[in-house]
This record gives sequence, structure tokens and C-alpha cells, in this order.
Amino acid sequence: MKIHPQNVKGKYYIDIDTCTCSAACEIRAPNHIVIDDKDYTAYFSKQPETPEEKSQCEEAMDCCPVEAILNDGEINNQ
Ligand code: SF4
Repeated sequence: MKIHPQNVKGKYYIDIDTCTCSAACEIRAPNHIVIDDKDYTAYFSKQPETPEEKSQCEEAMDCCPVEAILNDGEINNQ
């Protein structure tokens, strides 16, 4: 498990050891997830605040083909 250093603290984060850089998540949550072109990994640039934003991030989680997006960061990512 490794988290991108630019992943903002909070509930949502991406395990870049698992991420295959499919970019499927960025399409679902473009205001929250960024693909790092340097090392082809993804990270959360903004945590969701509203129900609509949370819904986008949950959709991004659901579409990840390798289940690299996690949402227990309030426990593990602080
Ligand atoms: S959908 Fe999953 S594998 Fe694809 S870029 Fe996002 S976190 Fe990485």
C-alpha cells in the first residue's frame, strides 16, 4: 500500500501500488481525482464535501477495475 504524496488528507485515497492508471476514475470525478503524468498514478486533489461530490467519488470507486480507490482514510490516512 502506497499513497501518492499529493493525495489530500481525508476519507478518500488511492493505493498507487495497485493503480494501473486506467484513468476511469478521473472521468467520473474530474474535480477530485488527478492522474499524475509523471509516474502514471492517481490521487485525490480534493476530498468530496457535498452529497453530489461524494456520489461522484463513490462512482469513481465503483468503476476502478483494480479496486485501488479506498474510503476509510479517516482511519488510515491522517
Ligand atoms: S480507476 Fe483505478 S486503476 Fe484506474 S486510474 Fe483510477 S485508481 Fe487507478
